[in-house]
Amino acid sequence: MKGKIGVTSDNLFPIIKKFLYSDHDIFLREIVSNAVDATQKLKTIASTGKYKGSVENLKVAVKLNKEAKTITISDNGIGMTSDEVEKFINQIAFSGANEFLEKYKDDANAIIGHFGLGFYSSFMVSEEVEIITKSYQDGAKPVRWICDGSPEYTLEETDKETVGTDIIMHINTESEEFLEENRITELLNKYCKFLPAPIVFGKKKDWNDGKQVETEEDNQINETVPAWVKKPVDLKEEDYVDFYHKLYPFGDEPLFHIHLNVDYPFNLTGILYFPKLKNNFEVQKNKIQLYCSQVFVTDAVEGIVPEFLTLLHGVIDSPDIPLNVSRSYLQNDSNVKKISGHITKKVADRLTELFKENRTEFENKWNDLKLFIEYGMLTDEKFYEKALNFYLFQNSDGKSFTMEEYENLIGANQTDKDNKLVYLYATNKDEQFSFIEAAKQKGYDVLIMNDVLATPLLNHFEQKFPEKHFVRVDADVADKLIAKNDEKKEVLTLDEKNELSPIFQAITPKDRGQFIIDFQDLGESATPMVVTQNEFMRRMKDMSKMQSGMSFYGDLPDSYNLVVNVSHPLIKKIMTDKQETLEKELTKSAKEISKYKSEKESLEKLKEGKKEEEITQEEKDLLAATEQKISETEEKKRKSLEAFGGSHDLAKQLVDLALLANNMLKGEALNNFVKRSVDILK
Ligand code: ADP
Repeated sequence: MKGKIGVTSDNLFPIIKKFLYSDHDIFLREIVSNAVDATQKLKTIASTGKYKGSVENLKVAVKLNKEAKTITISDNGIGMTSDEVEKFINQIAFSGANEFLEKYKDDANAIIGHFGLGFYSSFMVSEEVEIITKSYQDGAKPVRWICDGSPEYTLEETDKETVGTDIIMHINTESEEFLEENRITELLNKYCKFLPAPIVFGKKKDWNDGKQVETEEDNQINETVPAWVKKPVDLKEEDYVDFYHKLYPFGDEPLFHIHLNVDYPFNLTGILYFPKLKNNFEVQKNKIQLYCSQVFVTDAVEGIVPEFLTLLHGVIDSPDIPLNVSRSYLQNDSNVKKISGHITKKVADRLTELFKENRTEFENKWNDLKLFIEYGMLTDEKFYEKALNFYLFQNSDGKSFTMEEYENLIGANQTDKDNKLVYLYATNKDEQFSFIEAAKQKGYDVLIMNDVLATPLLNHFEQKFPEKHFVRVDADVADKLIAKNDEKKEVLTLDEKNELSPIFQAITPKDRGQFIIDFQDLGESATPMVVTQNEFMRRMKDMSKMQSGMSFYGDLPDSYNLVVNVSHPLIKKIMTDKQETLEKELTKSAKEISKYKSEKESLEKLKEGKKEEEITQEEKDLLAATEQKISETEEKKRKSLEAFGGSHDLAKQLVDLALLANNMLKGEALNNFVKRSVDILK
């Protein structure tokens, strides 16, 4: 019998062939999963007693014939009667085909999925496809269907002893890559690794005399009952680990797993693993594999599950995940959305449970977990709320606290004058050692927040809790980290400051950014100088490194405070030295300046009450000249102060020590410091 396939649009095949070309490797998945379905259906029918034959050895065989240029997929499943071929294969009933094809003509998966064109995808790689099939039904006659991709087909009776179906694809010239054994193995491994009926591809091979030889044993490429399909009670910890390695042969040991098993309001099974996260977690993202009833759909889950969950590894399987549809379709699918909300909840619950049941283990794993948790807290509000109960702060002594516990610890001592709770933190225990120590001396506790997400996370906390404030230990001298009162006592007069600033300014490193000299009374026993960096600016700069659109801050020079402790004996010595060396000069320039200033004052008096045009040119010139003299004298004074600083080994040594304490003394500057130190010791 000859007939015409019931496709309403004659141009369907050209579209399949042309536009589906980029995705053509899915043909194998489609044909193999149809074959697996056929075996599963026969099993179901047998269980109702309607089929009396054996269902012991149900399987699917994939065969390659390079000479004949065919790939054959054989199954011993339910088969089809002539009527069924007519109905299932020939009459592809669909409506609105033309509009749909127009809309999705660039998106192969959408077309295939929408029409249930699974079988027809074989035409992407074949010039002709044959179906030889015999139904399980009593007295069913075997039939052969053959079609070359045009809407015309032939359907006739044929010979076939056994129940089941052979699909024979006559591979076209452009698709000969699929006649390579390696290519087929690769595709079977990608798509069919966990299908529920055995899939056999040739015989197992062994090494013999340095050569690969075929054994008698079938080469089954899949595992029919993968771990996620089993019940959690039937699995041991090592089974989960083994399964992880099956999915990721080169992966590190996972931290722990979550076995998902939901049947209401949707069907979902799967196992998710927490991997050990490295700081560069981009490479570890998007490893979750999505299945639909054990058929692989995709391993590109971004946009399908919440961003932070893409850091997890493992398998999600749901018959409600539409197979064969485009990414944008998947993202907007309401089942997929529900699934991802559900997974977020499960993950948070599992972490809560681990935290409550075994805090020690949770703490031990914290370092590997925290990036994931922080990422989740930053990107998913629901997760954030739950995670607040198990997010751990770690202090410089290695102790861990929840937010609530930590506030009990620091509440009394670390509340500032505005009633804000100040969390002190360090990002590097070694580099900020002296600051951590100074803070501890004051009875403060210091957290260590050192991973890539720390800065965004503490910004997030501050937004959520306006009454909490995070300050890095080197943001100010210990005394001022937590402002307890408003008074701001000036330790030097303006004149004194003006004389001292240039001395230190001259010896701050120019290539390190901007230094503001700040004089404070830190007490005799404190360090003579400290370099601090304003919290706000530093944090903005840190953020700008991570985020585009903040380059304004990134482009600003680094800005530091050089805090000079005026009550330290060594600073006092520098002040005395300055006085001794520059006394004459300074007195002279002070006199000159005050002389010029009084001249300027009288000149300005003359101008008072006069209109602009009444002031003579001579008067104007005289005023300008006096102003010029003032600034020249001041400039000269500044220069000699700078020269004094530049030649003062003690001052230089102290600045370098302060830089060294911040790990800011490097290269040539460090070398000079070492040389100078040796000279001093001589
Ligand atoms: P879908 O699998 O989405 O229904 P297909 O075009 O892949 O769409 O297949 C159409 C129908 O043809 C199937 O639903 C099934 O009834 C029948 N069919 C396909 N392959 C086989 C097979 N190997 N054995 C039995 N029936 C099959």
